[in-house]
Amino acid sequence: MTFAAIVVAAGSGSRAGGDKQWRRLGGKPVVRWSVEAMLDSGADQVVVVVAPGSQDRAADALAGLTHWSAIVGGAERSDSVQAGLRALTGAKDQVVLIHDAARPLLSAEVIGRLRAALTGADGAIAALPVSDTLKRGSDRIEATVDRAGLWRAQTPQAFRADRLLAAYAAWPDGTAPTDDAAVVERDGGTVRLVPGDPRLMKLTYPEDFDMAEALIPRQTRVGSGFDAHRWGPGDTVWLCGVAIPHDQTLIGHSDADAGLHALTDALLGAMGDGDIGDHFPPTDPQWKGAPSDLFLIHAVERLHARGGRLVNVDVTLICERPKVKPHRQAMRERLAEILGLPLDAVSVKATTTEAMGFTGRGEGLAAQALATIELPA
Ligand code: MG
Repeated sequence: MTFAAIVVAAGSGSRAGGDKQWRRLGGKPVVRWSVEAMLDSGADQVVVVVAPGSQDRAADALAGLTHWSAIVGGAERSDSVQAGLRALTGAKDQVVLIHDAARPLLSAEVIGRLRAALTGADGAIAALPVSDTLKRGSDRIEATVDRAGLWRAQTPQAFRADRLLAAYAAWPDGTAPTDDAAVVERDGGTVRLVPGDPRLMKLTYPEDFDMAEALIPRQTRVGSGFDAHRWGPGDTVWLCGVAIPHDQTLIGHSDADAGLHALTDALLGAMGDGDIGDHFPPTDPQWKGAPSDLFLIHAVERLHARGGRLVNVDVTLICERPKVKPHRQAMRERLAEILGLPLDAVSVKATTTEAMGFTGRGEGLAAQALATIELPA
């Protein structure tokens, strides 16, 4: 048996700095996390309730997903839920999970527990037992409240659609319930408590986003890159984003900064995202003489778009000349600036090949690089 879901994304989210449901978390819009979780657990339809004028934003945020629709909600959350219920297609007594988009880290386990708990009950909600000692008061304590039997209500909350609509019809005008369970409770229904999930935290304040980012499972990945360019006539060589006066230059389509090219490939490699030639074809005249920091910035932007972050990079330049050591600190500082990394996460090393091979004979310079990243798993 399948189920339907209503994801409420109609709030203004003013406490979180506005429009939190459309902000990106782990590289995805907040609302997309919940819709994907519902679809992955077998929801046959997801109705996303949005504020007037936000349907295009929903289409952008949910691009590529199927079995969802966006409708416009009402002034109160309860109006939005009822609009969502009326928009459902299919059996009137189907199971529906009502969920707030502001709780993105929804697991299949919680969805499964709610669906299972609905047998023989009118509703079931995800909730956590209160573990802190509770105090009542304003600026000083008036009472210590017994926390035994107290729960923090989360969403999703599960009901049969017709039962919830009937309960809403019986709810008195002029007041707004704080959740859907309260509506069924007041109508005499039985609502079960099932274990929620601390990760189902509600994004309320701007700082909540940092906490939620930290809760997203990530995998560590490593990528490597290698590049070489030939020496030719010139008076300056670019290495790791730094111009070094020299009696030769490296020949290439761009500024031939082999250090930045190797590092760009290391980043793309860690993401499984092709190589520098795929993103910046040497046949494209717009990259002629281009400063290579453009390539590296592009790779970093692609990493951020996927919700990833850089951990550290390590570049080795292989040449007999110029001497790299006097420029190493400037190179590290420039790379740290481009990559947004602390200096101790950026390494630039140099070696000769003891006069062996093409670098040893002074025909060219080579660079190799490693990049460690973390991507949402
Ligand atoms: Mg190159």
